[in-house]
Amino acid sequence: MDNSRKQLDSLLIKPAGPDCNMACTYCFYLDKKELFSNTEIHRMSEIILEETIRQTMIQAGENISFCWQGGEPTLMGLTFFEKAIEFQKRYGSDQTIGNGFQTNGLNSSIHTTSWLGYHWMVLNTSTIAIAE
Ligand code: SF4
Repeated sequence: MDNSRKQLDSLLIKPAGPDCNMACTYCFYLDKKELFSNTEIHRMSEIILEETIRQTMIQAGENISFCWQGGEPTLMGLTFFEKAIEFQKRYGSDQTIGNGFQTNGLNSSIHTTSWLGYHWMVLNTSTIAIAE
């Protein structure tokens, strides 16, 4: 067996798929909805979230960064990200865990809480375009 396999150091997750609360005409990702044409709403389930994090932590080295992107990841709601932190703590083992968050900044229900600032190392806010 090859033990020299590279350890994971980052993972990009799009928990709401291409769903977004904006409709920018230049969006690079909205047409991905066509890949999931059997449903209008796309949300990662808690069981998939847990398994994704569990497997990631097994394959991670000393440092692992999660990047949450979309579409618009805040559509998942705060409870989803509280669970993500819980699973990272549960399945991590003395690893340094980073979380980056790419958002358009419109979903004030999640941004106004101090929770994100406390738990998320990096908060990137996209330039907001006018919705059509
Ligand atoms: S805010 Fe970002 S993800 Fe949402 S429609 Fe605009 S470019 Fe796409």
